[in-house]
Amino acid sequence: MIYPPRCVSCGELVTSDFGLCGPCWRDTPLITGTICESCGVPLPGEVDGHRIECDDCMQTPRPWQEGRAALTYTGRARKMILALKHGDRPDLARPAARWMAQAAGRMLQPDRLLVPVPLHWSRLLRRRYNQSALLATHLAALNNLPTCPDMLLRTRSTPKLDGKTRDERTALLTDAIRVNPRHAGGLLGRDVVLVDDVMTSGATLTACAEACLNAGANHIFVLTLARVAKDA
Ligand SMILES: [Zn+2]
Ligand SMILES: [Zn+2]
Repeated sequence: MIYPPRCVSCGELVTSDFGLCGPCWRDTPLITGTICESCGVPLPGEVDGHRIECDDCMQTPRPWQEGRAALTYTGRARKMILALKHGDRPDLARPAARWMAQAAGRMLQPDRLLVPVPLHWSRLLRRRYNQSALLATHLAALNNLPTCPDMLLRTRSTPKLDGKTRDERTALLTDAIRVNPRHAGGLLGRDVVLVDDVMTSGATLTACAEACLNAGANHIFVLTLARVAKDA
């Protein structure tokens, strides 16, 4: 039996693989136009051929080469991500991976290894799945790329980072993320695309990038479903 595809947001019948009906598509804050090369946040102005960065990325240089995000973390996008994370809606990951692949553009090159940001096992028990690993798995299947869902491990449960200062976040994340000793050799000389659902300050992604670099990874890239934009 084949079920007709439905809009992942409102349930209307849809015809496209992108999983949204027309009205929901228009209401979904997909990022287009000028963006920060390091985190993918939309920026005002025109592209002039030079590398453009947002204030956050200029103040806090990132340990990765490029960052891209599919959506701004507002309105309908925020609702969908919360449903993916806490609402037991793993079906959202498939269309989300398509939006991410579109935002990624040339970032998804054949030899790059997709590595999801890990969840601590105690959260994994509560949520049943790691939404970032689910996104990485769909991205890998869609783009015929290698992925290693348990390359990184979260060895300590970290409290919510919202509202913490940069130094507090860094302190909380120190040693919280490690490379899985079973796969450590797999990072040597590899280009890695870190996959996460939301980038807020980037502290968690920084800890992940540093763990990969310390294990001998070559270049790190970052691809998220959504980016929190300060002004949004
Ligand atoms: Zn809809
Ligand atoms: Zn930025």
